[in-house]
Amino acid sequence: MKTIGVLTSGGDAPGMNAAIRAVVRTACENGIKVFGINEGYKGLIEGNLQELNIRSVSDIIHRGGTMLHSARCREFQEEAGMQKALETCGNKEYGIEGIVVIGGDGSFRGARDLSLRGIPCIGIPGTIDNDIVSSDYTIGYDTCLNTVMQMVDRVRDTVESHSRCIVVEVMGNKCGDLTLNAGIAVGATAIVIPEIQSDIEKHVIERIKRTQTTDKKHFIVMVAEGIGGVEELARKIEKECKVESRAVILGHVQRGGSPTVRDRVVASQMGYKAVQLLMQGIGNRVVVQKDDHIIDYDIYEALSMDRKVNSELYKIAHEISI
Ligand code: ATP
Repeated sequence: MKTIGVLTSGGDAPGMNAAIRAVVRTACENGIKVFGINEGYKGLIEGNLQELNIRSVSDIIHRGGTMLHSARCREFQEEAGMQKALETCGNKEYGIEGIVVIGGDGSFRGARDLSLRGIPCIGIPGTIDNDIVSSDYTIGYDTCLNTVMQMVDRVRDTVESHSRCIVVEVMGNKCGDLTLNAGIAVGATAIVIPEIQSDIEKHVIERIKRTQTTDKKHFIVMVAEGIGGVEELARKIEKECKVESRAVILGHVQRGGSPTVRDRVVASQMGYKAVQLLMQGIGNRVVVQKDDHIIDYDIYEALSMDRKVNSELYKIAHEISI
């Protein structure tokens, strides 16, 4: 393989830059030309590419976001859009023979479709949500967890001073990992995630009332984005538990910031591995972390895996949050 492309697609995540850097440098060190494809699949369709060299990726390892920008592109999901993307790859100016796709499950479906049409692609899990079933870990997750913890710690200071309750909505799509882990880290009284079904109001209100009997005066309730309804829940808590309550939606602040050590290291390992696979002519694979090892799966296999919630962790959170 003489020339490859790299793109970031779907939601941005801290650590994507570290992955781009690893891809570019591994390729360059092995005599492979690299094109950075701007704005994900949209840039591939539009021919929005730039050649990258070892120095093009200097001073990005510590930056959040993605130097290649990201996008969601419906056109790519239609055959006409796909054909345009293939034309870009085949264009004499580029001659792209393989692509590293950094993104989530949707982006991997696109990588699978391109692989089937003769452009071998390797997926790298990059999303703050940790919702890629095939991988124990996704790039951006650790940075995001720490951001959520720091934000809630700040709100806690004021909540404590005023003996209030805050109901925090945490991003994470349909996956409760961010909410559960950050919930433990901030000492939340109640944690609500989509994977564990319950009568939400009853569960939260019962827990607050129970801690009130132990003289607790301020409360943190963490609710996953996939559940929603934080304003309404705050009103209900105020009425039933007689404690002034506020809803806080963290939103996009969760996506930003300098990546943590973990995100930088995993991103570097995954970027390296992805290029190694392409160098062997292997495509239609996704690079994942399993039991502290970086391995790869077939994209079909990866996309069909079932998700398991860490119920042991949920149980611990429940027992120690009193
Ligand atoms: P995040 O987890 O941050 O949402 P994602 O990669 O899952 O990331 P999506 O918006 O689902 O984000 O997908 C990103 C892009 O991948 C889409 O805009 C589209 O171009 C492409 N894509 C998504 N689903 C498919 C599919 N089924 N077939 C082909 N391409 C797809």
